[in-house]
Amino acid sequence: MGEQVRRAVYPGSFDPPTMGHLDIIQRAAQLFDEVIVAVAVNSQKQPLFSLEERVEMLQECCKALGNVRVAALDGLLARFAQQVGACAIVRGLRAVSDFEYEFQMATMNRQLAPEVDTCFLMTHQQYAFLSSSIVKEVARLGGAVDHLVPPNVAHKLRVKFTSTTAGTPTP
Ligand code: ADP
Repeated sequence: MGEQVRRAVYPGSFDPPTMGHLDIIQRAAQLFDEVIVAVAVNSQKQPLFSLEERVEMLQECCKALGNVRVAALDGLLARFAQQVGACAIVRGLRAVSDFEYEFQMATMNRQLAPEVDTCFLMTHQQYAFLSSSIVKEVARLGGAVDHLVPPNVAHKLRVKFTSTTAGTPTP
């Protein structure tokens, strides 16, 4: 029993990964033996970055963390967590507004996989107002996001928005 690997799954869209996500990943990596960052295919949202791009960006961000790996998540999170033998699902909480949706998800996941608990980590106060959507909006309009996302993500955003007509190019 004592030898059991404490594995956690940290699911999300990560479109794109931000410093807020990275902070949660680093803290989860200290709490658990292994962390699997699970990138949702997400059929409901139309992502800016493809699944492959999001997985690749996260792999680059996490390469220094030996007990973190990145995987694609297609299908039910509860089933994925069971399949990989996770004891926990990690989610980040920013504001009260995150709570209701997270509570709903955690309750549903408990019904689907009672042996997997959901574990919430409070955001670092520095990242409390940081979201992937706000990063995309600022980057699309040509604003600097370098302090909000890891360097490789900032680069990908610049490439994305200067190569399309959707955004205003950085002056
Ligand atoms: P989802 O579409 O599943 O909400 P996100 O990529 O937006 O995916 O977020 C994944 C997880 O990371 C969620 O639990 C979210 O609350 C958390 N998260 C997002 N941004 C931050 C942040 N700035 N600080 C802490 N947690 C965050």
